[in-house]
Amino acid sequence: MKFDPAVEVQKIMNLSPFDGVNPAISDSATFAFSRGDVMHDTFEGKTEGCFLYSRHWNPTNHGLADVLAAMEGAEAGWVTSSGMAAITSTILQLCKSGDHIVSSNTTYGGTYAFFKNYLPSKFNIEISFVNITDLAEVEKAIRPNTKLIYTESMTNPLLQISDIPSLAEISKKNKLKLVIDNTFTPMIISPLKLGADIVVYSMTKFINGKNDCIAGAICGNSEFIESLIDVNSGTAMLLGPVLDPLRSSSILKNLYTLHVRLQKHSQNAMYLAVKFKEYGVDINYPGLKEHPGHELMKSLMHGQFGYGGMIAIDMGTTDQANEFMVHMQEKGVGYLAVSLGYFRTLFSNSGTSTSSEVPIEEQKKMGLSEGLVRFSVGLDMDIERTWKLIETSLKEVGIQHK
Ligand code: PLP
Repeated sequence: MKFDPAVEVQKIMNLSPFDGVNPAISDSATFAFSRGDVMHDTFEGKTEGCFLYSRHWNPTNHGLADVLAAMEGAEAGWVTSSGMAAITSTILQLCKSGDHIVSSNTTYGGTYAFFKNYLPSKFNIEISFVNITDLAEVEKAIRPNTKLIYTESMTNPLLQISDIPSLAEISKKNKLKLVIDNTFTPMIISPLKLGADIVVYSMTKFINGKNDCIAGAICGNSEFIESLIDVNSGTAMLLGPVLDPLRSSSILKNLYTLHVRLQKHSQNAMYLAVKFKEYGVDINYPGLKEHPGHELMKSLMHGQFGYGGMIAIDMGTTDQANEFMVHMQEKGVGYLAVSLGYFRTLFSNSGTSTSSEVPIEEQKKMGLSEGLVRFSVGLDMDIERTWKLIETSLKEVGIQHK
């Protein structure tokens, strides 16, 4: 991968002697114009480099969006106040009443709820949920009014790997857009380079990595990004889910370490995955060769960052999962908390938390076990010690080495 955040940030800074090494924060909601006609032209989208109002563009947000676009190999980007804002703005920009979406049946629960409950009743937009790893099922679900295919590169929480090049081929053949949520695998997978049209992120997770804010991003071609912020018809401009520039500035600085963090998250996740496997626990990690998407992921990823920080184990029942997580938290393995990409390990029972929006019957159908514990593995310096604490927790809930 050629992207280097430090190089990209320096490009946007245009440093003069004695400037600070971090980009200045543009802490303004509005911007002054020297002439009224230039202001009018800016509203009409006819000027370059002019800022009119921070709900539309702000220099600090532009800096972060440009660096993210460089990371994705995209023409342009835009930054949002949450990952859900990135997803909902993208979908509402692409679809209108009467349209249809084909979506992976395993996505983040909030996305699932937006598709299942919100879009059909409020916007008359229908969704077909499919097993995204079954390309024949994906093709079969396409209708004359289908507008887009939606999936996550690595799905939440089942950690399936989406075959982005094949989905892109299906999309192009049927004149659809392929929208990919790459939240679990920034830098590891570059969806746009594999043929996707739009990539969305929850930057709340690995990209920021500090768990101190909620944020999101959208990257795609310039035409799409400009349509999003069109003053007359852009979903982002009109619904207004813009990121605060102070947050943009802090996220930009965290991007410098993303590559190093990902390598460590991946290394620690691989270590724990192997240990769980050796212990005899049912473990799901795309880095293990037994994972059904292992070879596919190998063919899609930038290998130097590893297979990512997400692992999932099956504890059989929700009660067993809950008991185990409390033991782990008490010992200092990490936190019983939702979310991911933090420097401490986070774990949660997906079926009763981040996928609780998915009805139990659907969870069963898609293979989401009630005892699934999803881990976002942290940056632990001593992962051997962490494993010992996990092993003790397993024993305390009665799970012995097989
Ligand atoms: N996409 C994925 C894969 C997620 O896991 C999440 C949240 O957990 C989101 C999107 C939503 O992001 P946010 O909480 O920043 O709105």
